[in-house]
Amino acid sequence: MKTTNFYQDKHILILGLAKSGSAAAKLVQQLGASVVVNDKKPYEENEAARQLEKCGIKVVCGAHPLELLEGIHMIVKNPGIPYSNPLLVEAAKRSIPIVTEVELAAQISEAPFIGITGSNGKTTTTTLVFKMLEESNKKPLIAGNIGTVACEVAQSAKADEVIVTELSSFQLMGIDTFQPKIAALLNLFEAHLDYHGTKEEYAKAKANIFKNQSEGDYAVVNADDAFVMGIAEQYKGKIVPFSATKQLKTGAYVRDGYVCFNDEQVMKVSDIVLPGQHNLENILAAVAMVKLYGGSNEAIHKVLTTFTGVKHRVQFVGEINGRKFYNDSKATNILATKVALSAFSQPIILLAGGLDRGNEFDDLKPSLEGVKAIITFGQTAEKIERVASEAGIQFIKRVDNVEQAVPAAYELSENGDIILLSPACASWDQFKTFEERGDMFIQSVHKLK
Ligand code: ADP
Repeated sequence: MKTTNFYQDKHILILGLAKSGSAAAKLVQQLGASVVVNDKKPYEENEAARQLEKCGIKVVCGAHPLELLEGIHMIVKNPGIPYSNPLLVEAAKRSIPIVTEVELAAQISEAPFIGITGSNGKTTTTTLVFKMLEESNKKPLIAGNIGTVACEVAQSAKADEVIVTELSSFQLMGIDTFQPKIAALLNLFEAHLDYHGTKEEYAKAKANIFKNQSEGDYAVVNADDAFVMGIAEQYKGKIVPFSATKQLKTGAYVRDGYVCFNDEQVMKVSDIVLPGQHNLENILAAVAMVKLYGGSNEAIHKVLTTFTGVKHRVQFVGEINGRKFYNDSKATNILATKVALSAFSQPIILLAGGLDRGNEFDDLKPSLEGVKAIITFGQTAEKIERVASEAGIQFIKRVDNVEQAVPAAYELSENGDIILLSPACASWDQFKTFEERGDMFIQSVHKLK
C-alpha cells in the first residue's frame, strides 16, 4: 500500500455504509483520519454501523443531520446516494470535496488500474479482461461490483499486479485524481437520466474516467459511437479505437473473419462462443485492453473459446434435445431484451414479463421478428401479449411465474430452437433481485432435464 499523509488528522465523513462505506471508513481511519460514518438505516438494524463502532469509529444512524458537516475536510459517499441529498447540497455549498471509494483506492494503490465504463457491457467486458490477463499471467485483480471493494483490493495490491474494475457513472462522479493506465468507454445510452438529469450531465460523469489520464495512458473507445469518441478526444490519453462494424487502421476490429489488433490477426471470429453483436463489441474492447497490457493471443483465444457469458447476461444454461436455453435475467429493460433477441438467428421462444413501471412495449415490436412464441408472466404479461399479438406471433401463453414458463416453452419448442429468458422488466413484482429470477430459470431448466 502506498503511504499518504493526506488523511493524517483530517476529519472525514463517510456517507452511506453498504460494503464500500465500511471498507472506506476502516481505511481512512488506518491512514490517521478521524472518521464519522452516517447511514440512513436506524442504529438498531444497522449491524455494519455497530461493527464499525467497535473499531472506534463514530456512527450516526437514521438521518443525515447537517451538523455532521462541522469541521469535515472530505466526504466519501456511497455511489448510490444522489447529489440532491440535502447534506451533499450543503457540503457542495461549503466546498467540501465529495469523492467515492474508488478515489481512495487509487490514492493508496501500488498497482495500476484498468477502468471500464459505459451504459451496457461493463460487467461482461471487465470479466473478459480479467480472465484474459489471468490466462496471460499478468496478475490481474478484480475489484468493484464484481469481486471485492476497490479500496480493500488496493490495500494489498502489489506494483506488478493490475486492478481491473468496472465503474458506474455514479462512482465516476466522485473522481478527483483517479488516473487509470487504461480506461474504456464502451457506449452511452440514455440511462439513469432520473439521477443525472440530462445526457450531457451523464456523459460528463462518464468522461471523468479519462480526465486525469496523461500521454502515456490509453483511452479505449467505441469508434462506432461518435458521441463517445468526441468525449475521449478532449483528453490526453492515447485513443485506441475498437469497432464491430468498420475495418480500422489501428485498435481492435474484424477483418476477413478474424479479430484483429493493429495489423495482427488475433483469432477467428467463428471460434468465439459468446453470442451476439453486442458481445462482439465487448470482446473487441477487451482485446484492445489486453493487448495494450501485453496479454497473449493464446490467452485471448482460450478465454473466447470457453467463456459462455457472465451469469444472467445471455448466459448459456444448457441444451435439451436440441433446444438451447439462455438466461438473460439481467435484461430489466426493453433495450437489453432487444440486444439479446438480436444475438440469435435461430427461432426463439421468449420468456418475458415482470414489474410494471407504467411503460408500453411497442419498442420491442420490431425485434420480435425471429420470435415464434412468447410465454408471459408477472405484472406486464398483458401489455407484452398485446405487442406480441400485433407483431403476428402465433403462440402466446400466460403462466404464473418463471418456474411454469420453462416447461411451457419446452412444450412449444422444436429441435434447433432457442429458449430465452429476457424479461424486458425488473423482477421486483415476484422476486427480490434479477439474480433470484435467473436462478429460478436455471433450476427449472435443470428440472426439465
Ligand atoms: P453492465 O455491467 O454495464 O450492466 P452487463 O455486461 O452486465 O453490463 O450486460 C447487461 C446487459 O446489457 C446484457 O444482458 C445485454 O443485454 C446488454 N449489453 C451488454 N453489452 C452490451 C453492449 N456492448 N451494447 C449494448 N448492450 C449490451
